[in-house]
Amino acid sequence: MATIQEIRKAQRDEEWRKQVRDSIKAKDRMAIERVKMHEADPEKRSHSYVEVNEGLTLDEARNEAKRCLDCPNPSCVTGCPVEINIPTFIKNIERGEILEAAKVIKETSTLPAVCGRVCPQEKQCESQCVYNKSKKAPVAIGYLERFAADYERNSGKAALPEIAAKKGIKVAVIGSGPAGLTCSGELAKMGYDVTVFEALHEIGGVLKYGIPEFRLPNDIVDFEINNLKKMGVKFEADVIVGKTVTMDELREESFKAFFVGSGAGLPRFMNIPGENYNGIMSSNEYLTRVNLMHAADSAYDTPVIFGKNVAVIGGGNTAMDSVRTARRLGAERVMLIYRRSEAEMPARLEEIHHAKEEGIEFHTLCNPVEYLADEKGRVCAMKVQRMELGEPDEKGRRKPVPIEGAIDEIATDLVVVSVGVSPNPMIPNSHPDIKTTERGTLEANEGLQTSVSDVFAGGDIVRGGATVILAMGDGRKAAASIDNYLQSK
Ligand code: FAD
Ligand code: SF4
Repeated sequence: MATIQEIRKAQRDEEWRKQVRDSIKAKDRMAIERVKMHEADPEKRSHSYVEVNEGLTLDEARNEAKRCLDCPNPSCVTGCPVEINIPTFIKNIERGEILEAAKVIKETSTLPAVCGRVCPQEKQCESQCVYNKSKKAPVAIGYLERFAADYERNSGKAALPEIAAKKGIKVAVIGSGPAGLTCSGELAKMGYDVTVFEALHEIGGVLKYGIPEFRLPNDIVDFEINNLKKMGVKFEADVIVGKTVTMDELREESFKAFFVGSGAGLPRFMNIPGENYNGIMSSNEYLTRVNLMHAADSAYDTPVIFGKNVAVIGGGNTAMDSVRTARRLGAERVMLIYRRSEAEMPARLEEIHHAKEEGIEFHTLCNPVEYLADEKGRVCAMKVQRMELGEPDEKGRRKPVPIEGAIDEIATDLVVVSVGVSPNPMIPNSHPDIKTTERGTLEANEGLQTSVSDVFAGGDIVRGGATVILAMGDGRKAAASIDNYLQSK
């Protein structure tokens, strides 16, 4: 059987590919400016849930595709956690074969329209693009991925993958985030009878309850879920495995293997004085109330506090989604409070840029140390410690160090704490035979098999809070391992 490298070389040597490559000189390709994404007007979008990035036109996408040099050893591919065949899909866009481009992406990525929107491409594939060596902006791989996926979806010609003959073997997937969705799709393709059990009433995990619609519209996630349904995957919402039903009970129902993709949905707090006052909540709670329970819509009963002076604590994507949600809910002043400087923020650069455009105040090198409340117990202010950067920590990020005596008070009536998440404890607590690590994540070997032989796991429940594409990569890998395990039995 040909290796993946041999297949890629053969693709690169195809006649059409040579013609496309030779049609423009490399120096002329490199002279083309990187395309700019169309964006909704910051003032208008900060009062609505319209998607901020509006996508590229066909002409823009084809022009951007011309910038790709079709490198013989494409370094971009090594930067992609699921190794999408990047130059092949981009050259298909250049020649106008967009459906073919989408097909190439889907060979290794189950949710391309999602990844094209939320993947940190600047830290992954784009950071490895050869253009960086000559200090030029990398090829806009993420924008092109999104373009191909959207084009295919809107064409009405989205192809379903081939499904192998039914095996009549039942597999249970626990959790419907990107890890669970990917694993279920891969197993369905192999002919397994897959049921996804989801604790919440909506399918999609963080893609639905966490990431707001102005970044990732729900209809895009629903489109992918519907495709999985067409492939035969069954979904059971409102089922908490470990509470509503145990794995042993599912074994009695003839489920022969399990994939646990239950995520890292347990919020962390800072444990500082006053953190229990009314008006202080985790970003998980805040975003879930708004995104999943429609709390901001008067037609729904779910309550949410509409703060005037909102402070969000943290510097990751979740913090960025929370500040921008608060702005959309009508807050007059929205502050992002982060203990390091902007350079150390883990959030995507694009999200930081968008948040600033939407009028979010960035208070960096600043850490809450105490909350103050009014006579009704509702938060009314916080004391913050000013910080400076010290020596790098074990991850190489400079440590924030308190500046002695530099404590300020900031008025606030709603605080959203977004300082990280921990693994969801439901599965480990209810199934103690599955070994866990010190961090509470599930222990899994190279093939993502846990200490219980018929249970596999991946995504945030194994990695701790990570990314969509890494969760998808795990789902794919675990599906292959589950297949090996079941076939060897
Ligand atoms: P999840 O998406 O968390 O899904 C787990 C699912 O399992 C949930 O639906 C949960 O209800 C369900 N579940 C849990 N326990 C049980 C049980 N016992 N029985 C049944 N169901 C159960 N990553 C990026 O790459 N880019 C971004 O821009 C980005 N932004 C983010 C913004 C926010 C607000 C958040 C919270 C995360 C963000 N991330 C981002 C991280 C990314 O979303 C996660 O890494 C990813 O979703 C993990 O996927 P998963 O499938 O492992 O888990
Ligand atoms: Fe194209 Fe950049 Fe990949 Fe080279 S490294 S193939 S230029 S996207």
